Amino acid sequence: MGDEREQFDLIIVGAGPAGATAAIYGVRYGLKVAFFETVDPVSQLTLTPVIENFPGFGGNGFELLQKMKEQATKFGAIHKFENVEKITKNGEHFTIKTDLNTYDAKAVIIATGGRHREIGIPGEKEFVGKGVSYCATCDGNFFRGKKVAVIGGGNTAVEEAIYLKEIGCDVMLIHRRDELRADKAYQSEFFSRKIPVIWNSVPVKIEGNEVVERIVLYNKVENKEFSMDVSAVFIAIGITPATDIVSDLGVERDSRGYIKVNKKQETNVPGVFAAGDCCDNPLKQAITACGDGAVAANSAFEYIKMKFQKDNS
Ligand code: NAP
Repeated sequence: MGDEREQFDLIIVGAGPAGATAAIYGVRYGLKVAFFETVDPVSQLTLTPVIENFPGFGGNGFELLQKMKEQATKFGAIHKFENVEKITKNGEHFTIKTDLNTYDAKAVIIATGGRHREIGIPGEKEFVGKGVSYCATCDGNFFRGKKVAVIGGGNTAVEEAIYLKEIGCDVMLIHRRDELRADKAYQSEFFSRKIPVIWNSVPVKIEGNEVVERIVLYNKVENKEFSMDVSAVFIAIGITPATDIVSDLGVERDSRGYIKVNKKQETNVPGVFAAGDCCDNPLKQAITACGDGAVAANSAFEYIKMKFQKDNS
């Protein structure tokens, strides 16, 4: 009585591949589902310029995710652009507070993914938006024809370097070891483009006046510091899970902040499930995030059926 909160069976925090898939499966189980999209962190998938390892799909990450979200809303899931600020458990129900509203849910799936990791060197923070970027697809255009550096040796760094080369940047890759971490398929694409690599080198500082002008590096093998003139530094050294939202719920996380889940994507808190890059799963791919999302939705459905069946009958 008097409580005008919108009620859902299942609320999904996140609208990346894990969240969108959980929404598709949740509504198809007959649940009333809402899934929430935030700008920070944005889904890593939307920033992926070319998808070559999602079976049956060819295109960019934005298009793929758009199709997933449309599929979820077509079946009746409610998509909301609201920032989830707090989740609390009150008895059997969850209260989800966003920047705009407060909602009630019987179960929650956390699919918040991760945000870019920072190096933590002088100049990095100061030059964000003035040459330091964490997203080549967002900012690469500003640096066509200019000399730019990508930091990192994983799939993201290699993809970004390829993308920047394709759009006409004079790009080099800077990596702290003498071999790349990226999958072999990405490596062949990368090396075939003859993108120069500065090996065994760690960034020390980023310098400039109004905008980035150079990066100072330390070569670990030669034990010497040197600098390279660049107009932009694209940092792609991995992600950190965006899981602060679960701290008040008592959801267990590992030492790096990833949510601990079992094979059913259950967390230690009944009614709270997690899926995708925010979990302590071994492989962080769009396809595995989708799998996690489907499993999490199934587990949430079983949980709601078991816990609330008396209320529904
Ligand atoms: P990642 O695989 O964790 O690689 C991070 C890279 O940054 C590594 O090469 C690492 O060096 C380097 N690095 C880490 N900290 C550093 C520091 N402080 N200074 C300098 N270099 C540093 O991260 P990611 O490439 O962002 O990928 C994240 C996850 O998403 C991975 O599981 C990846 O497979 C997945 N992903 C998949 C695709 C795809 O399949 N299409 C695309 C993008 C990302 P070391 O190698 O020495 O550790």
